[in-house]
Amino acid sequence: MKEKTKQLITADKEYVWHPFTQMKDWLSGEPIVIESGEGFYLIDTEGRRYIDGVGSLWCNVHGHHVPQIDSAIREQLDRIAHSTLLGLAQSRSVELAERIIRIAPNGLTKVFYSDSGATAVEIALKMAYQFWHNQGKKTRTQFIALRNSYHGDTIGSVSVGGMELFHGIFHSLLFETCFVPAPYPYRFDGSIDQCRQFSLDQIEQLLQERSHEMAAVVVEPLVQGAAGMIVHPSGFLKGVRELTKKYDTLLIVDEVATGFGRTGRMFACEHENVTPDLLCLAKGITGGCLPLAATLATQQIYEAFLGEVADFKTFYHGHTYTGNALGCAAAIASLDLFEQNRLLETLPDKIALIRDTLEKIARLDHIGDVRQCGMMAGIEIVKNKKSKESFLYEMTLGAKLCALMRCRGAMMRPLSDVIVLMPPLAIDRMTLQILLDIVIDTLIDDLPRLVRNA
Ligand SMILES: *Cc1c(COP(=O)(O)O)cnc(C)c1O
Repeated sequence: MKEKTKQLITADKEYVWHPFTQMKDWLSGEPIVIESGEGFYLIDTEGRRYIDGVGSLWCNVHGHHVPQIDSAIREQLDRIAHSTLLGLAQSRSVELAERIIRIAPNGLTKVFYSDSGATAVEIALKMAYQFWHNQGKKTRTQFIALRNSYHGDTIGSVSVGGMELFHGIFHSLLFETCFVPAPYPYRFDGSIDQCRQFSLDQIEQLLQERSHEMAAVVVEPLVQGAAGMIVHPSGFLKGVRELTKKYDTLLIVDEVATGFGRTGRMFACEHENVTPDLLCLAKGITGGCLPLAATLATQQIYEAFLGEVADFKTFYHGHTYTGNALGCAAAIASLDLFEQNRLLETLPDKIALIRDTLEKIARLDHIGDVRQCGMMAGIEIVKNKKSKESFLYEMTLGAKLCALMRCRGAMMRPLSDVIVLMPPLAIDRMTLQILLDIVIDTLIDDLPRLVRNA
């Protein structure tokens, strides 16, 4: 190992606290230090190259070190890096807002900027809450969300998230949310139609009994990412939209993971012809190179906040870096690349390639389920293929498999025992094939051995 790498690892262990990481494990390991990126590859300080199999945690769209995005950031840097949106407008943020509204589901007319997925959701929750408050409907304070959903790590977004682990620890800090079972066909005894209907019925029952208490229903559209790539039966999102209309409550759709092409369309909502009242965007918005987020609202929501200052209808929320000019410049360049490269048109071919590989993987021992929604996929490892019994949490098979895939040249990160595939959307067919070969070879060669030694 190079002296420089050793020094960096020592300093990392001395000074950096990593997210979602048991640092005791980290300190006993030997981390990879990334130094640069080139196209669909990450390159570490030792010069080793890895295909970015999870798109740098689900946000990378066009690859790394993309000349058009980099030069858009440089050009913006020659003008200004940042100025506030509190009391001022900024040219790039105006331009981007117009671009986003042009491609967003019909009926969304306003863009509220922030800087991460969690803040985009936080803002949507507060907007929904205050939307009713401003109209004197002060009992509408609660949210309905799906079990196992993930909306980010701030207290508000954790409150509507359904991950037991976080709820246990932070329980007394969270506001109360009504959780309904997600439509998860793999864990449901019955047909897909029954599965969808069961979840919709649960939502309807809550709305029937308590619609006057409900501010909004919050969902990840089509697929619950962090829960393990749980793909919903088609028609579920549309069903939720119909119910929220029927019972006059709001729909918040969290497209932080699914937005910007990930499902094969620009936004997942398009698959079901749905316009939510509030739409949350982040991860892929800048192509995956700078932190930026947006919460989109309908005209109806926006107008409920209009009035005299003394009416106290103003939306009192903002972040220092709201609408950052460098981030907006990168986002505009990313949207340009979607058009220039006709990126969405290149996806069906790659989506089919992933589907064919998953079919092969599904037949292997200890593969419980394979799930895919466009360019996002999950491979679930189980102890028993028939009973679907999981391995114990402590076994960390997913992490062990991903470590082996790293040795073979693919940078992977699992969700518990689900292997996640989220390559940059623009990945070329050949590199995608190499990535898929690494995944399938590791599952064939190493999974049986890992299970035997377990
Ligand atoms: C990643 C994610 C978030 C949180 O985004 P951050 O930028 O990490 O705060 C929220 N919702 C969904 C659906 C996500 O996948």
